[in-house]
Amino acid sequence: MSIFEQLSSYDHEQVVFCRDESVGLKAIIAVHNTSLGPALGGTRMLDYPSEQDAIRDVLRLSRGMTYKAAVAGLDLGGGKAVIIGDPSMKTEAMFRAFGRFVDTLGGRYVTAEDMNTTVEDMGNIRRETRWVTGSEAAHGGSGDPSPVTAWGVFHGIRACLEVTYGSPELAGRTVAIQGVGNVGFWLAKYLHDVGAKLLYTDVSNKRLARVTEAFGGKVLEGDEFYRAEADVLAPCAIGGIINPRTIPMLRAPIIAGGANNQLDDEKRDGEALSQKNISYAPDYVINAGGLINVYSELKGYGREKAMQDAANIFDTVKRVINKAKVEGTTTAMSANRVAEERIAAVHRLKRVYLPKG
Ligand code: NAD
Repeated sequence: MSIFEQLSSYDHEQVVFCRDESVGLKAIIAVHNTSLGPALGGTRMLDYPSEQDAIRDVLRLSRGMTYKAAVAGLDLGGGKAVIIGDPSMKTEAMFRAFGRFVDTLGGRYVTAEDMNTTVEDMGNIRRETRWVTGSEAAHGGSGDPSPVTAWGVFHGIRACLEVTYGSPELAGRTVAIQGVGNVGFWLAKYLHDVGAKLLYTDVSNKRLARVTEAFGGKVLEGDEFYRAEADVLAPCAIGGIINPRTIPMLRAPIIAGGANNQLDDEKRDGEALSQKNISYAPDYVINAGGLINVYSELKGYGREKAMQDAANIFDTVKRVINKAKVEGTTTAMSANRVAEERIAAVHRLKRVYLPKG
């Protein structure tokens, strides 16, 4: 497939190839859609097996950001960037050179941290452009997004409970969390604060000890997570865990957690969940708190405002699940439609004439 065929298959606006041999920089910036606002998305650094893999990744990820921002109701488009190379070889000059390329886009693309890039890397980009988020909290940045992400997940869980049981009340409900790292730990805290019963699984005994010491609860081993007699399963670890092997084990009526790409195959596994009458909160809808957090940075960051905005995920999740019911589709498809309808509606806005003076 030619590069332009690839751009049209994902419907991209613009892709920029950046090279600066003097610092070993090879990067690609993909601006997927700016109908709703500047294309925001992180920069990841990876030693891709081939340039084709890097192109595929940046196109796929930037498109995902468009949908995420649109469903979350943000005035943001979708973008993403990749730096091709071994992360252990990164330098200040490389990220500054990359920052200069970001600057040439004049704010059409705004970058952030992602896989293998850090707050320090964002600091180096910031020396060359203001179109960057994710700097240290001490320097006016938004800091660790996990408490905000978990807060959004918490409200998404409440929305699922309301749809399933008619009440968002968490006291006495059982939630099983897979992965008690940054997001999972904060989620456990919020759930514990309102009297939910907690079950956990993690591959790290240290993480499990930390969460049980803080909030009590019970540890699940291996596949016990999938078989748990819980009200909610909250995947907060890795992707692909909802698949043909695990779906037959599921007993909980709700899946709502922070992990990315929970469904191994969006269509196949989304339909299998619908058939089992399991309410699935699409991952990119319920975990948008991290994006909401960096978005607030563009407006002059305040953690309180970011938390308030993340709480709106309650309404978004409810809307997506109810729309799926009405339209007889999966929640994942319904979320995509919400995004596409909002983008199309805003895209159609007419320019109105304003007389000067
Ligand atoms: P993290 O690395 O801090 O935590 C992940 C936890 O999962 C760790 O404790 C790890 O030991 C555990 N884990 C790994 N493999 C596991 C397995 N097979 N079974 C059980 N536990 C396992 O990561 P995080 O920042 O908490 O992110 C968790 C997920 O949420 C990721 O999918 C991430 O992409 C997604 N996410 C995070 C944010 C954020 O703000 N941090 C925002 C959006 C999405």
